[in-house]
Amino acid sequence: MSKTSMATMLLSALLITASGCSHDDNSIDQEPTTQKEKSVQAETSKTKGIASADHNPAVPVTVMDPDAIPVLINKENMLPDNYKPADLVYPDVRFTFTEKIEKRMMRKEAADALESLFQAADEQGVPLAGVSAYRSQKTQTSLFNHYVEKDGLEAALLYSATPGTSEHQTGLAIDVTSSDGSCAVEDCFGKTDQAQWLVDNAPTYGFIIRYEEGKESITGYKYEPWHLRYVGQKLAQDLTDRGITLEEYYQSNVAVK
Ligand SMILES: [Zn+2]
Repeated sequence: MSKTSMATMLLSALLITASGCSHDDNSIDQEPTTQKEKSVQAETSKTKGIASADHNPAVPVTVMDPDAIPVLINKENMLPDNYKPADLVYPDVRFTFTEKIEKRMMRKEAADALESLFQAADEQGVPLAGVSAYRSQKTQTSLFNHYVEKDGLEAALLYSATPGTSEHQTGLAIDVTSSDGSCAVEDCFGKTDQAQWLVDNAPTYGFIIRYEEGKESITGYKYEPWHLRYVGQKLAQDLTDRGITLEEYYQSNVAVK
């Protein structure tokens, strides 16, 4: 048996118990556990599915309230198996492609906010385009399997996340780029006027740059100037004013309880 088939078999076993969808260009360093173990973890969590300080980070907790706008999804907090938001719509904004397909969708509240954000960017001479928004568990699973086929399980885990831990499955995240489509999901986007405009203006519309530079050890992801996450205007402004990530927000809130 080839190394690849072995890895694929291993992966299939893993994915039976994995849930949700994950980011496609980042690493993950833990394996999903059994559903039974996960529900025990979830039940014992006193923070609505937020991993507590004594929680073993190798075992992701399933969040209890996946529909909450400020929901925390990362390598330690995952979506319930096969979670799909009920209010997905197509935001009326420019994308780098024309098809009406899954990755064009976002939850209604986030889609409305995105339309306002894109309109302001247009008016201020920094036109944007969407690259990828909602991603279903099925799509992420195919994507991840593809990477495993291509590079083997070990390598795939270094740059792609297992299903369940990606914000793209929440319908609240979107990768954006300049309207000319250049530097889409590439580091060079960080040097564009659009990226700077987003840093300055995204919170006004309820979005944050989710994976900030220098916060890799907290968010678990490298700097991604293109990945926007909708959290609502009030929280986006609060996080920006305090200079903290969503993880730090939850940690500080848990600490005072
Ligand atoms: Zn993203």
